[in-house]
Amino acid sequence: MTDNLDPITPLKPTTDNNLPVIQALFGGTFDPIHYGHLRPVEVLAQQVGLKQVILLPNHVPPHRPQPEATARQRLEMVHLAIQDKPLFTVDRRELDRQTPSYTIDTLKSFRQELGEQCPLAFIIGQDSLQTIHTWYKWEKLLDNCHLLVCSRPGYESKLSTPEMQQWLEQHQIDTPNLLSQKPHGYIYLAATPLLNISATEIRLRQQQGLSCNDLLPPSIQDYIDSQGLYRQ
Ligand code: ATP
Repeated sequence: MTDNLDPITPLKPTTDNNLPVIQALFGGTFDPIHYGHLRPVEVLAQQVGLKQVILLPNHVPPHRPQPEATARQRLEMVHLAIQDKPLFTVDRRELDRQTPSYTIDTLKSFRQELGEQCPLAFIIGQDSLQTIHTWYKWEKLLDNCHLLVCSRPGYESKLSTPEMQQWLEQHQIDTPNLLSQKPHGYIYLAATPLLNISATEIRLRQQQGLSCNDLLPPSIQDYIDSQGLYRQ
């Protein structure tokens, strides 16, 4: 996708009360974006003191089936969902890459822009933490960012093997204040609202003609209807 809907977000590592501002990224397929993405991250931002969260719709998700909506449609839905939410902005560097959206590559690209000292955080849901050992070069993630983890119904905070649990405990912090004091390396498990919503369920409900009013913003439902998305 090469059309220019939105310029890449300008990055400014500013300071606030002499503490470096944490740059926070939230990647996803967003097929479509829903309240399960937006609400936990809004609460997380309050808990951690994030001023801005950069949404990163991915082009070719490496860990899952390919999206049903096109890259352009997913990007347009993200824009619609955040139009009245100043916390969020969008960056399209993963969409503009024609290769798989490996998070490590994205983090390195942000790191180059921000410099080595800027605190950088990557937000994921608890389900993603459970499978993080399957991500490309996952061991390098914490060399580049902190991980901020939102709760998700049905997913435990304990990891599935002793090795992964040990990795978690080595890096886990209980107080988010520490996040701005180091550029990377911590994991913070946030207590965010549990929303039993997934894009998979939404696509299924759309196909069956069932209401999704409580699952995503009305502007996204209108867009899905106008584009005839997820009907088969
Ligand atoms: P799908 O059902 O198609 O797999 P999804 O709803 O899980 O999609 P993604 O775009 O794959 O959404 O997820 C992007 C990120 O948002 C992931 O880190 C995922 O863990 C997180 N996330 C998605 N839904 C929720 C939810 N209900 N609560 C907390 N985190 C969520």
